[in-house]
Amino acid sequence: MSERASAALYERAQRVIPGGVNSPVRAFRAVGGTPRFIERGEGAYVFDVDGQRYIDFVGSWGPLILGHAPPPVVQAVTDACRKGMTFGAPCAGEVELAERIVRAYPALEQVRFVSSGTEAVMSTIRVARAATRRSLIVKFAGCYHGHADHLLVAAGSGLATFGRPSSAGVPEAFVSATRVLPLDDEAAARELFAREGAAVAAVIIEPVPANHGLLLQRRRFLELLREETRRHGALLLFDEVISGFRLARGGAAEKIGIRPDMATFGKVIGGGMPVGAFGGSREVMAHLAPQGDAYQAGTLSGNPVAMAAGIATLDTLEREDGWSRLESLGAAFERIIRPVLEQAPFPLHLVRLGSLAWLSLHAGDAPRSASPLPADATQRFAKLFHGLLARGIYLPPSPYEVCFLSLAHREEHFAELASALEAVLRV
Ligand SMILES: *Cc1c(COP(=O)(O)O)cnc(C)c1O
Repeated sequence: MSERASAALYERAQRVIPGGVNSPVRAFRAVGGTPRFIERGEGAYVFDVDGQRYIDFVGSWGPLILGHAPPPVVQAVTDACRKGMTFGAPCAGEVELAERIVRAYPALEQVRFVSSGTEAVMSTIRVARAATRRSLIVKFAGCYHGHADHLLVAAGSGLATFGRPSSAGVPEAFVSATRVLPLDDEAAARELFAREGAAVAAVIIEPVPANHGLLLQRRRFLELLREETRRHGALLLFDEVISGFRLARGGAAEKIGIRPDMATFGKVIGGGMPVGAFGGSREVMAHLAPQGDAYQAGTLSGNPVAMAAGIATLDTLEREDGWSRLESLGAAFERIIRPVLEQAPFPLHLVRLGSLAWLSLHAGDAPRSASPLPADATQRFAKLFHGLLARGIYLPPSPYEVCFLSLAHREEHFAELASALEAVLRV
């Protein structure tokens, strides 16, 4: 398989873009080799600049719940562009998308749009602090909430070291206002609230953590967070940037049956355009400027093209009974892939919820909290990844990342993955 055109672009890219990429995981560091430069996507497929076709299980890391270039979304975006791409003034699309999100997610009365998940989380934290007049934020090791300073602590696959930033350039002062707890550990959460509950502004969690593999939580654990935050006057924030409008119309909150005080969205609600949103009760959101004293703004926030993409995506999901179809697809994926994984000569398990699927190389039961993989597992994943890539399958290039299924996937695609996996595991 030729990768000449990708290699040439990567070479050029590395001269003018740090590491040759605009988001680190794209650089294939965890698996080695040349990142594929993608020319176009269609349905369940992406095509690289060397003309190779891959079945795509990355889906741009979450937004592409309908697959690549779905005609209703392309049409909506094209129509919107013709009318102008941004006005810096209110437009009807914002109202419509906000109404849809609020209708779908009972914990919210109001939302505000931003341009990324990072921005949504950053702004939610600010509002939570403004509303409680407290500063401590509690997060969980292995949960990723974007790259805002005070949350880049034990984030995603960054090693879970207590109270240490996951990134250079994050001042200690920020870290000192963040507490990091292990997932799946009631005792640790209880103890923190007993000690510092009165200072906690908010607890933020991915209710279905999907940035360090898929770490499915027990309902009891999330319930405890709901109880402790309520008892101590802190806010519970669900980061639904991945799970929102993916796991159910009402996100993970609906699936689990727990109502947070605030929630953040991104990915799916932008239908492939840069969109984030955050929301809460009218009372909490009243702290935002221009009503309140918590400042937050954005030149491109709520722009008509992005809003049109989001509306068309949610429309299509509703019209096509998207969430139950995604669940059936996930079940088919499981039925087809699991038996193949069981034949692997090393630990290889499937962890799945709805359209999120993780190939875990951890030995034993599916982990519920973040733990690093042994070095040999990481090497095995790299081999597996490249074996599949050579057979036309595009998996996330890291053993800690989940696969995203979309409505464009068919059982044939899973069958192709299964036979490629069989071939790769045999060598
Ligand atoms: C992707 C992600 C973010 C950040 O969103 P960006 O749009 O990449 O800034 C935040 N939280 C979670 C749970 C995510 O998966």
